[in-house]
Amino acid sequence: MQIRTVGVVGAGTMGNGIAQVLATHGLEVWLADVSETALTRGLEAIRNSLERLIRKGALPEDARHATLGRIHPTTVLAALAPCQLVVEAATENADIKQGIFKALDDVLPAEAILATNTSSISLTRIAAWSRRPERVIGMHFMNPVPVMQLVEVIRALQTDDATHAAVTGLAEALGKTPVTVRDGAGFVSNRVLMPMINEAAFVLYENLATAEDIDTVMKLGMNHPIGPLALADLIGLDTCLSIMDILYTEFRDSKYRACPLLVQMVQAGRLGRKSGQGFYRY
Ligand code: NAD
Repeated sequence: MQIRTVGVVGAGTMGNGIAQVLATHGLEVWLADVSETALTRGLEAIRNSLERLIRKGALPEDARHATLGRIHPTTVLAALAPCQLVVEAATENADIKQGIFKALDDVLPAEAILATNTSSISLTRIAAWSRRPERVIGMHFMNPVPVMQLVEVIRALQTDDATHAAVTGLAEALGKTPVTVRDGAGFVSNRVLMPMINEAAFVLYENLATAEDIDTVMKLGMNHPIGPLALADLIGLDTCLSIMDILYTEFRDSKYRACPLLVQMVQAGRLGRKSGQGFYRY
């Protein structure tokens, strides 16, 4: 299936990046969010990102106008009716996602694919919410989407081969490298990454070193391009906490318990870059 028309649900950190990459590659994009403010902020983030890429020479000057012209913002999910594929990138909360999947089932044609950018919720569980479980799949983009090469493709137990082929084909057409993994909480990326971020938060909580020093150890000692605490701020501390909670619930193993400092930061509204303060100030 040649995919030309895509919906993105959620215009936050990930949704606006996904919409931008789809539109710069010539696809028509319907970008939906419940919040007008989130849509305005999402479009502003896309404009800024395009400016940066044009300044760096990574995109031609005329890409700005053409890309923005292909993105259609909406607060009405029914506007996604013409889409052949929807990438759900709303808040990492199972109840919210279930509501969106139920609504999309009613709005989209039967053959449309439902992809989700979830970081950790079981794809098999999500597919079971839908009346088209064989056309549900994980399309896990990395942050920042316009820059990062990987798309982790997660097959639910129910996903069929045609859906898998369409989604890996689309990821390649976007210039990304898809890696397919089987379903399991956190998949591969966050099963490995989040416990490391959580442990860095514990090290800070136990006062063993400053945030800067923890990040410097991992950057200079392990050759990581960004330290775990700065990365947590980039991802969003609420998202990190949700992922740890899902790993903990799914595996019932205390090694996945969230660091109390991470919990407190979220309670205090210190969510990282998106709120202006996390482990660092922005
Ligand atoms: P975010 O908080 O930045 O944005 C979420 C957006 O979803 C908000 O704009 C919110 O208004 C919107 N939303 C909430 N309920 C909605 C609904 N019912 N319908 C439409 N929109 C709704 O979150 P994010 O960081 O962009 O994460 C989105 C998804 O991507 C999550 O599943 C997350 O786990 C995943 N993810 C995040 C990262 C990351 O680094 N932040 C990386 C990979 C995957």
